[in-house]
Amino acid sequence: MQFKNFKSVEKCVYGAGAFSKLDEILATKRTKDNNVMVFLIDNYFKDKPLAKQIPAYSQDLVFFIDVDIHEPTTEQVDNLRDTILAQKGLPAGVVGIGGGSVMDIAKAVSLMLTNEGSSQLYQGLNLVKKEGVYHVGIPTISGTGAEVSMTAVLTGPEKKLGLKCDWTVFNQIILDPTLTATVPKNQWFYTGMDTYIHCVESMTGYFKNTFSEAYAYKALDLCREIFLGKEHGQNPINNEKLMVASYFGGLSLTYSEVGICHALSYGLSYVLGTRHCLANCIIFDQLEEYYPEGVREFRAMVEKNDIFIPKNLAKEWTEAQIDKMADVALALTHMWNHALGPDWKEKNKITKNKIKELYYRM
Ligand code: NAD
Ligand code: ZN
Repeated sequence: MQFKNFKSVEKCVYGAGAFSKLDEILATKRTKDNNVMVFLIDNYFKDKPLAKQIPAYSQDLVFFIDVDIHEPTTEQVDNLRDTILAQKGLPAGVVGIGGGSVMDIAKAVSLMLTNEGSSQLYQGLNLVKKEGVYHVGIPTISGTGAEVSMTAVLTGPEKKLGLKCDWTVFNQIILDPTLTATVPKNQWFYTGMDTYIHCVESMTGYFKNTFSEAYAYKALDLCREIFLGKEHGQNPINNEKLMVASYFGGLSLTYSEVGICHALSYGLSYVLGTRHCLANCIIFDQLEEYYPEGVREFRAMVEKNDIFIPKNLAKEWTEAQIDKMADVALALTHMWNHALGPDWKEKNKITKNKIKELYYRM
């Protein structure tokens, strides 16, 4: 058993319409000396009704962020931090409204507002030196668990790795399932599968424990209802279920660990920029020998919801790219320790060649 002493989200409001509480929640953090809030919002909402419901006042800063260009980068976070400090000095808070991408940017910006230098200096565990500013996360798509996790995943010049520490965790989250109603179907599935895969991986490995399993069991049950049940598909009830499943999946992996799919996913995303949740789906489909039941059920979910999972991609990849992917994946030792046991290296339970072979199948 590994003991993890984890920080949780401080406050959470849940339910359809909960977004309307944001103004009064922020009011408690606006002071006479500092009443500036920074809103980071997924660009999708720029011309949508939600944009008009954001409780931003004249002194606040609002940034719409296009997350489709690339996954969050250290440079992007540094630039945002510099712009905010130049325009307003240290704000009273940062609010991220969007998917895993915007939530990670909000967490990272909160930390970088008080920590000097580039965010790439802080990619890793407990490297951040000072507490960030108050930060709020509001997911608009469910699955990554970024709303509850203690990491803000950034791609830097050298690596894709999170800023991971107690201060990364949101002070407040608002879980309003109605915000997810407009997510396109394939994206809904890919991001939802991140939860499913988090749970399968967290409960199939050496670090699993009753605490992490309890969350995973419930999240998996919810996923089965959402993706395989009689009322499967995108609807208001399932949007509620998926938002809760995402939160539970995030807690499950926090108290355990992710596994082989996530290790390979980091390699693929780092080299080709493939989005995390889509990358997971492409990879998980090829991991039957490691997660037989999970992969079988995943395929049933793909079929039932008529989802497109890209295949035959590796023929376009160069040997050098696959080699780099394997290096990135192999370096994630904590995931291999969990998935295969601490003796995976000496017993050759996984090798670089085996990982490359898995990539070649995709
Ligand atoms: P995302 O934030 O990348 O967004 C995916 C797409 O969905 C975008 O096009 C976005 O505009 C759109 N979208 C979001 N909400 C919408 C809505 N309500 N209606 C219509 N479109 C909407 O999606 P994601 O899958 O949640 O996040 C992926 C990111 O999360 C990756 O960068 C990954 O590294 C990160 N991640 C972080 C953690 C963590 O613990 N911090 C865990 C897993 C993944
Ligand atoms: Zn994930």
